[in-house]
Amino acid sequence: MDLFEYQARDLFEDYGVPVLRGDVAATPEEAREAAARIGGVTVVKAQVKIGGRGKAGGIRLVHTPEEAATAAGDILGMDIKGHTVKQVMIAQAVDIAAEYYFSVLLDRANRSYLAMCSTEGGMDIETLAEEKPEALARVEVDPLTGLDEAKAREIVAAAGFDEEVGELVVPVLQKLYEVYRAEDATLVEVNPLVLTEQGEVIAIDAKITLDDNAAFRHDNRAALAEAAGHLDPLEQQARDKGLKYVTLDGSVGIIGNGAGLVMSTLDVVAAAGEKHGGQKPANFLDIGGGASAETMTAALEIVLADEQVRSVFVNVFGGITACDDVAHGIVAALEALGEAATKPLVVRLDGNNVDEGRRILAEYDHPLVTGVWSMDEAADRAAEFAASPSAEQQKVQG
Ligand code: GDP
Ligand code: MN
Repeated sequence: MDLFEYQARDLFEDYGVPVLRGDVAATPEEAREAAARIGGVTVVKAQVKIGGRGKAGGIRLVHTPEEAATAAGDILGMDIKGHTVKQVMIAQAVDIAAEYYFSVLLDRANRSYLAMCSTEGGMDIETLAEEKPEALARVEVDPLTGLDEAKAREIVAAAGFDEEVGELVVPVLQKLYEVYRAEDATLVEVNPLVLTEQGEVIAIDAKITLDDNAAFRHDNRAALAEAAGHLDPLEQQARDKGLKYVTLDGSVGIIGNGAGLVMSTLDVVAAAGEKHGGQKPANFLDIGGGASAETMTAALEIVLADEQVRSVFVNVFGGITACDDVAHGIVAALEALGEAATKPLVVRLDGNNVDEGRRILAEYDHPLVTGVWSMDEAADRAAEFAASPSAEQQKVQG
């Protein structure tokens, strides 16, 4: 689960990481009040879980509560790389002398933790890693010993801080690591960590990813998840029905049984989609091993309710779940949806009771359903269907 900046800021504060005052606001009026409470120059920051807010116009320096309200009015509702701004954080502003970068993360490949640090912060880290890899220090942190004072000094030295500033940075890194460890995070990132004109080291941006597998160990997780809008309504609905569903950002809805089959379906659709204007999977939905007709119906309803979906690929290899149950589920879903069903479905059935499953679909003979019995061909048809409505829209738009 990724936290919003203001949530991460609050956690930083709990662990004694130096941060500036900050309050979240959902309306211009709340922004005005927050700016008045904080006083002086403030920064109005879009709360979206994506970097580059500054460049996108989602961060504004303001001098009065009135200006804060105006800026909040401009920023709220803004679309930043596909993320709608629903809240802003009003933060106390600082005079920045230098911007640094620091992160600590779970390094799965090396079964260890990795700290990254640079005296050239502010820039996005992918760009820095690509254009100036020598400016980004990478230091392994042994999970058993953690990021202690000695390790913090090693990181600071590797990043090339001068001695005086380095001494100020060392305790901040230790506290950031404490957030990472104690909260079971997989990422804590500060970009930029700044040196102020007054000579203080402060985290003015905050990014935290928490390990959901450790949620049971933390009383604060439910509240954080709710505020983080972690589950979108469809994900919530899927979870309630016992389906494993994840939204992605493509156009082809994917339903399959078994995580392995669904994963390979994603790959096959992504490959087929390249021939159709770059269509990509819109989601991952695994109906599981022993799915019933009702499960199939629920799955289809969820995927069809996703507005970005333009076609659906149902890929089932019948095992415990027999193909005729799947076919019944598809029929029931389409009956329930009636006129509301407008998106083409490509269905590939194989395995247990396949003949009966195919017969049921053939008999139902719904205009939106296409049965295709090879996985590659089915993926190709689904991608083709997903591409065609957009082509029509382009025609209309001339
Ligand atoms: P991001 O672009 O989404 O990563 O947002 P950041 O929180 O990192 O802010 C982007 C940039 O805005 C920073 O690198 C700073 O240069 C600037 N900025 C943010 N807060 C302040 C502040 O309090 N004072 C000043 N002068 N600049 C700020
Ligand atoms: Mn940043």
